Amino acid sequence: MSAKPTLSVIAPVYNEAGNINELHRRVSEVLDTTGEPWEFILVNDGSYDGSAEEMRALQAGDPRVRVINFARNFGHQNAVTAGTDYAHGDAVVIIDADLQDPPEVILQLLDKWREGYHVVYAVRSERKGESWFKKFTAKLFYRLIYRIAEIDIPVDTGDFRLMDRRVVDALKSMPEHNRFIRGMTSWVGFRQTGVYYVRQERHVGETKYPLRKMLRFALDAITGFSYFPLQITIYVSLVLALLAVLAVPVVAFLRLSGSTLQFEGQATTLVVVLLMSSFQLFFFFIMGQYVARIYDEVRQRPLYIVSEVWEDSPEQSPAVAAETGATESDHASAAS
Ligand code: UDP
Ligand code: MG
Repeated sequence: MSAKPTLSVIAPVYNEAGNINELHRRVSEVLDTTGEPWEFILVNDGSYDGSAEEMRALQAGDPRVRVINFARNFGHQNAVTAGTDYAHGDAVVIIDADLQDPPEVILQLLDKWREGYHVVYAVRSERKGESWFKKFTAKLFYRLIYRIAEIDIPVDTGDFRLMDRRVVDALKSMPEHNRFIRGMTSWVGFRQTGVYYVRQERHVGETKYPLRKMLRFALDAITGFSYFPLQITIYVSLVLALLAVLAVPVVAFLRLSGSTLQFEGQATTLVVVLLMSSFQLFFFFIMGQYVARIYDEVRQRPLYIVSEVWEDSPEQSPAVAAETGATESDHASAAS
């Protein structure tokens, strides 16, 4: 294996049995056409469905494959982070393991990289095989974060992207928890561009992002890149103050004029008290979201724990390949 592969491809894997071999086949096919050395890093985020066995077998047959096993499920963004931490490539590509991101698009990402871009993100012009709810909430989310974030985070863009080594190193200097990697790669700057692609249906299996995880992810994105939720309190408080100021003469007038229109009774008070408490609790919740994330930073726990790494050491790889009966061409570029 050469000391430094030109290209690293990273895929986070959480219960993707049935997708791994096909992903490897298509990624290899695409990368082999570049004629450059490459490595394929699979980050096993605590899978329990046989994905690990598939990756073990894959790694035994191809020295360009490296498998990073987590001690448990640490989440998609932390899995991607581990991938970038372990990657050696001059260019690093992040791709989903379920083949929703077609590996063939990597060639377009590489073209832009060779033109001198440091981040090439893949923009979803269309999403196939996803529920209207997922498409609708995703569309809304990307536009919301685009509006309220301090930086421009391109819309309809997931983690499928290429990053130059400089960008990867910059990301590695950002140890923050509750990560929103698409925002972080925008944040670092450098020359960035996008290419369009059609997001495909999952090859096999179901989404690993239930509503609960999606909401959590959205909150990470918002709290990580915007103070807007904290700032809306001032607008709400100004509106309420204005209402109060207007209410005083109105109530006084009604009372003095002996009008039958009066704000009377416990019911009115009860409604106002409940409404105000709900406002207040809502803003407590928002503050709590930021405070909890501060707590995560203060504790300084690592982002993930690795239980085991399956990889060939550079000296070993030809021997291992011979042992496993891999063909010459299987590791030709890795051995060059
Ligand atoms: N994933 C992960 N850890 C998780 C959830 C997901 O590593 O806790 C991986 C998953 O295996 C896939 C990628 O992240 O490769 C995207 O997840 P998924 O396809 O389920 O999300 P969707 O495409 O439905 O938004
Ligand atoms: Mg998917």
